[in-house]
Amino acid sequence: MKAIALRKNSTTVELIDIPKPTPKTGEVLVKAIRCGLCGTDREIIRRGIPDVPPDEDFLVLGHECLGRVDKIDSQARTQLKVGDLVTAQVRRGCGECNACQTGHSDYCYTGKYTERGIHKVQGFFTEYFTDKPQYLVPVPNDIEDMGVLAEPMSISTKAYEVIARLLGRVCFDGACSLRGRQEKALVAGHGPIGILAAMLLIIEGYDVSMLGRRQEGDLQREFIRSFGARYLDGSKDEDRKVADEEGGFFLIIEATGLAELTFRLPAILGRNGILILTGVPRGPQAICFDGNSFMANLVRYNQTITGTVNASRENFETGLDYLRMFKEKFPEASPGIITGRYTLDNWREAFGKKATNEIKAVIEFE
Ligand code: BGC
Repeated sequence: MKAIALRKNSTTVELIDIPKPTPKTGEVLVKAIRCGLCGTDREIIRRGIPDVPPDEDFLVLGHECLGRVDKIDSQARTQLKVGDLVTAQVRRGCGECNACQTGHSDYCYTGKYTERGIHKVQGFFTEYFTDKPQYLVPVPNDIEDMGVLAEPMSISTKAYEVIARLLGRVCFDGACSLRGRQEKALVAGHGPIGILAAMLLIIEGYDVSMLGRRQEGDLQREFIRSFGARYLDGSKDEDRKVADEEGGFFLIIEATGLAELTFRLPAILGRNGILILTGVPRGPQAICFDGNSFMANLVRYNQTITGTVNASRENFETGLDYLRMFKEKFPEASPGIITGRYTLDNWREAFGKKATNEIKAVIEFE
């Protein structure tokens, strides 16, 4: 069968032939439907030193899968049935720490975890894959079209879960409702994580703005407006103007991985505000910013800045619920998140230069 992989010390991604896997004891065989391409895949390719599994000389990329259960080993302890739609979690815990032992490998303490398609385990850009049922998450049939977004959605959902926990510290009336708050929220960056986070915040009742650098008339700006978010052009300091005129943002989700942009965000964060970072920059970059104001605001306004990575099984499940809500609430906009569909005949185009208006590109395997 075919797989999209990166060999050791290579920056050229290849379509390779590997044996079709057979489920080991207790495992499930999944036939791929489609798999999404993300910034992490591009970064692994750019660096050219893939974290290949032990004793192998290539890494099959891909960690955003949607597939159908094809075969279940007789020893497998699962409710899944042949034909069920599934997605899979990315991270596999170390098994040693309290977080991993309780199903929260996204908070692994030892760092000895592995990640499919990223870190020492083969990924999902392949026609079939096997997995233990505990890592497979059922996808309801009515959101088959959105199911490939389950993994990036789990990241945005975890970010919001962290926010919701932190919000607890500033709710005093005993009936602190997270829904319908109408507080100002900002999402920096309009890649898949940013777009999905913005839709989630709209569903949760926030007044949502997205920060980018697109000019008036740009297609992405139109897309963002179509689901009810306001677009702020950072190159014109529109985010700062809004913060000056209307007060700082109560929540900010960063989804760019750009230090220069991220370090302007604390200055527009409001009182008791929460800034959460989801982007992972690579390599060092020195930046210049006003450290005194940063410290003074953080203290005087009770602000919180935190980061988040990966997601739990619960985040996948809740994320799938959000995807269904998006479909219902934004029937016109939701299909627009997947901007490119490629097959095993033209897959290489997907891995080429990112198209200007790309949000999510997927490889179709069927
Ligand atoms: C994935 C996460 C993963 C992280 C770090 C992201 O692209 O969505 O699941 O933990 O990369 O490897």
